[in-house]
Amino acid sequence: MDDCVFCKIVAKQIPATVVHEDEHTLAFMDIGQVNPGHVLVAVKKHADNIFALDDAQAAAVFRSAARVSRAIRDAFAPQGLSVYQANGKAAGQTVFHLHIHLVPRHEADGMELTWPVKNPPREKLVDYAERIKAKLL
Ligand code: AMP
Ligand code: ZN
Repeated sequence: MDDCVFCKIVAKQIPATVVHEDEHTLAFMDIGQVNPGHVLVAVKKHADNIFALDDAQAAAVFRSAARVSRAIRDAFAPQGLSVYQANGKAAGQTVFHLHIHLVPRHEADGMELTWPVKNPPREKLVDYAERIKAKLL
């Protein structure tokens, strides 16, 4: 995609600090560094979001995320690690080229995601599950 910053990074048209590369994925340091060691794992072939991934990309991006996560753990010894991936503006996505955030975490590090649980009755869960199952390919 001509106007996509991560496509430009993949094409080496703009610089990035790369930590890992394979056939389908490129992992590089997030320029914002929510915590030291914050990495993005992106697919190489442009996909706007998770909905646009083919199976090979989907498998490869999580394989790379797991590999790089282990390296972050060993290099930074964080107390935890958050895996974050946004699809669409409403979900907080700002770069519309699929990527997974790997964020080393520490107690009280200021990173927050509110989690407004609704705890619906079981019938609702069954209804929601049936709607999803009817669409699974
Ligand atoms: P998201 O909100 O999930 O789409 O996250 C986009 C992320 O891309 C942000 O955390 C930015 O700091 C990061 N980012 C944007 N431009 C660059 C860049 N040129 N190199 C590295 N990270 C970038
Ligand atoms: Zn792109």
